[in-house]
Amino acid sequence: MNDAEFADVLAAVRHFVRTEVIPREEEIEESDAIPSDIRQAAADMGLFGYCLPEEYGGLGATLSEDAQLAFEFGYTTPAFRSMFGTNNGIAGQVLVSSGTAEQKQRWLPRLAQGGVSSFALTEAEAGSDPSGLTTRAVRDGDGYVITGVKRFITNAPLADLFVVFARTGAEARGAKGISVFLVEASADGVSVGPKDRKMGQAGAWTAEVVFDHVAVAASGLVGGQEGAGFGEAMKSLVRGRVHIAAVCVGMAERLLAESVAHARSSRQGGRPIGEFQLVQAMLAEIQTGAYAGRAMVTEAARAYDSGADRRIGPSAAKLFCSEMVGRAADLAVQIHGGLGYMHGVPAERMYRDARLFRIYEGTSEIQKLIIGRALVRDDG
Ligand SMILES: Cc1cc2nc3c(=O)[nH]c(=O)nc-3n(C[C@H](O)[C@H](O)[C@H](O)COP(=O)(O)OP(=O)(O)OC[C@H]3O[C@@H](n4cnc5c(N)ncnc54)[C@H](O)[C@@H]3O)c2cc1C
Repeated sequence: MNDAEFADVLAAVRHFVRTEVIPREEEIEESDAIPSDIRQAAADMGLFGYCLPEEYGGLGATLSEDAQLAFEFGYTTPAFRSMFGTNNGIAGQVLVSSGTAEQKQRWLPRLAQGGVSSFALTEAEAGSDPSGLTTRAVRDGDGYVITGVKRFITNAPLADLFVVFARTGAEARGAKGISVFLVEASADGVSVGPKDRKMGQAGAWTAEVVFDHVAVAASGLVGGQEGAGFGEAMKSLVRGRVHIAAVCVGMAERLLAESVAHARSSRQGGRPIGEFQLVQAMLAEIQTGAYAGRAMVTEAARAYDSGADRRIGPSAAKLFCSEMVGRAADLAVQIHGGLGYMHGVPAERMYRDARLFRIYEGTSEIQKLIIGRALVRDDG
């Protein structure tokens, strides 16, 4: 994709989000689902594979381009991006970075056309510290048999493919001996639990996934190499952090637009509330956070793409932007007064939706540990 082609994609996404998705946000919230015509349109625009390589049917976006698109996705319900987020991000990037030619050929074109992949890392006692995972892949002839339970897996109820992290080494704990496998959702022994009932982000689904003695051929071991799984998970999550930070910026910009519109139109004492300086101060705080976040994400993505920084920048951007949008949502509710506490008002919905960003793809505490550790070791 050259610059002109990317500009067209960006403009089309911006137009689609603002004219087709935003008007349907309440429908998505109430039905807890993305309407099939929106899903189809997203697939037709290439969004299921915009970060996958062009030779496999994707659009080949760089992380800087991904960030610009994610600013737009963030402007509407996060369920829209979540539908194809795992393909372009955490799950798909494992295949892009380490899959064999045969694995890429088999899966990437299918994902780019609208198939869905899920990243299955988290377990009950392996969230912030995935090195504690206990799912096992035991050698059986030429292949493996996988047994274990994953939880909170985004898109699991829709998935065609699970990118599954499992222990092949003898160690009971630790990063060593974790491998990553491609498991078809239709394989015998794979079962997906009921959709989780979440606080927010309605229309984006997560569920528990049980792998009960699932037979996987040796060709399902990513890269054909045992023991590389933990590194793969970390690499993929680093990239994902910049994307999530960009989504947070988009949401903060939307919260600002909703808040400014409300401040201009809602009146108290015969005057628009936007004329009160304490309301203006809240608007200024949202604006400043969003502006800082946009600059930070742009720089973090640039440094990631050039290879200059693939550690501190992504964590710093995710930490700052996810905390920033939480504060922006809180202020937006405050600006809306009692209305901000009512269902059907975007600020109320986004207040709940934003809370997740501080938790998944590494909590705020984990981002601080990554940044601090890199600084002290001076090898960031
Ligand atoms: C909606 C949703 C979607 C998700 N999607 C996926 C997915 O697609 N695939 C997937 O694999 N996972 C997914 N997750 C899992 C998510 O990544 C984890 O929930 C997250 O990493 C936190 O892990 P945990 O829930 O086990 O919490 P814990 O790790 O138990 O954390 C609880 C608290 O302890 C703190 N804490 C933990 N360890 C430390 C430490 N060493 N130092 C300081 N504080 C610490 C945390 O910061 C947090 O405040 C999803 C989760 C949610 C809620």
